[in-house]
Amino acid sequence: MSLDHELLYIGGKWVKPSSSQRLKAVNAATEEYLGSVPEAVERDADVAVAAARGALDAGWATSDPQERAAALNRLADSLEKRLDAFTRVVSQQVGMPYPMSKQFEGRFSVSVLRYYAQLAGTLEPEERRPSPMGFDTLVRREAVGVVAAIVPWNYPTVLAVSKIGPALAAGCTIVLKPSPGAVLDSHIFAEAVEEAQLPPGVINYTPGGRDLGAYLVSHPGVDKVAFTGSTAAGRQIAEVCGRLLRPVSLELGGKSAAIILDDADLDTVLKGLTGVSLANNSQTCVACTRILAPSSRYDEIVEAMATWASELKVGDPLERGTQIGPVFSEAQRDRIEGYIAKGRQEGARLVAGGGRPAGLDRGWFVEPTVFADVDNTSVIAREEIFGPVLAVTRYDDDQDALRIANESEYGLGGTVWSADRQRATDVARRVVAGTVGVNGYAIDINAPFGGVKASGMGREFGPEALAGYQQLKSIFLIG
Ligand code: NAD
Repeated sequence: MSLDHELLYIGGKWVKPSSSQRLKAVNAATEEYLGSVPEAVERDADVAVAAARGALDAGWATSDPQERAAALNRLADSLEKRLDAFTRVVSQQVGMPYPMSKQFEGRFSVSVLRYYAQLAGTLEPEERRPSPMGFDTLVRREAVGVVAAIVPWNYPTVLAVSKIGPALAAGCTIVLKPSPGAVLDSHIFAEAVEEAQLPPGVINYTPGGRDLGAYLVSHPGVDKVAFTGSTAAGRQIAEVCGRLLRPVSLELGGKSAAIILDDADLDTVLKGLTGVSLANNSQTCVACTRILAPSSRYDEIVEAMATWASELKVGDPLERGTQIGPVFSEAQRDRIEGYIAKGRQEGARLVAGGGRPAGLDRGWFVEPTVFADVDNTSVIAREEIFGPVLAVTRYDDDQDALRIANESEYGLGGTVWSADRQRATDVARRVVAGTVGVNGYAIDINAPFGGVKASGMGREFGPEALAGYQQLKSIFLIG
């Protein structure tokens, strides 16, 4: 059964789109048509921005933080009710194994909204501060205003709520532009927004492509851009926002390293790497796709990784036991296969995978692939592949491992593996990245997440993300 939707959710109601263009969703595992939504165009974006502005002016920006907390909790409840429906379509569209979709896209997203509801409830918008100059100052934390939230397809719900949660808590309103690659889940999200009965215009839903994204980025009615996506798009957006002096947060690509120290327990490492390096078939910004192995244990590690990768269960993401699903699209599979060819050409040693899995003739599947003897300056070690292709590189000592890990354009994530947590933590402190995991990796709702260098700027999660949606104003009480 296909799901074809006709309306956009703007200004607190379902409205007819301005154009007849459609965004279609296809099952990545079967290539079957799943459904479609209307594609929003510039006129719809204008209406959405005006509705978001109207909601701010109608009092959302200055509302009681408790009211915003209650609204976020209602949204968490209505999203939770639909958890099975939207996590299923995420798996189908993106290829994400279902347990992960349910846990991360589903439960984690609901938790993010509840976390920001709780933070909103503790907000003190105004602080009276005595000045050493003999008067008092009111320091106010005000909402930045209308936020254009632009998200990619790989974790569509998490990446939307990681903006919506802190933005709404701070008193901002949102125009959400989902990726054309994940539209059915975002339509369900809009239904959850409707049921949560937020004031009209607080969240507006305008699915569209990069042109619509670019239109929103430079729209005169937008006060801040919150973007997650590729570094290439992030650079273009940063240029526009720089010219407009418009606040922008950029969560971009990565090429993170897993540093296996010489005392690490290999079973623990391999169990962990299934999530750390191959989560969502490595269509994950923080995936550790560079594996740094010590010379003293190099052959043992390469051999164990080859066996581990060959034994992973590849299949339909909705089937029980699947560890690796298909990649998101045919174009993406072609791109990944291009990188595998490049790895061979560059002289890396293929020790696992490299082709398409036997027996999976439909769907965009790629075998979990491991290259050994990878030079860190080669293309497969430098560029984000966004598919299950891992590069193993040899290092001499801890210093050398850090040199290789940090020799990257990116700085998003990383992991350090050791039997000695203190030693691993010391190494983690010296990894140049926004987040690093010790003997595993997990995003903490209560801690800032983001990148350095070409992985972006600004932070999501934690109270730090909320601060990014506030602007400071001082009122000097002189007389
Ligand atoms: P993408 O950059 O092609 O698109 C992301 C979103 O931006 C989409 O909604 C797209 O329509 C829109 N867009 C594209 N170009 C634009 C432009 N010039 N102006 C305005 N909007 C534009 O990325 P993608 O292929 O959808 O997603 C994969 C990328 O996202 C990877 O590079 C991945 O690392 C990155 N990502 C980063 C994080 C993070 O938190 N750092 C998380 C997930 C994904």
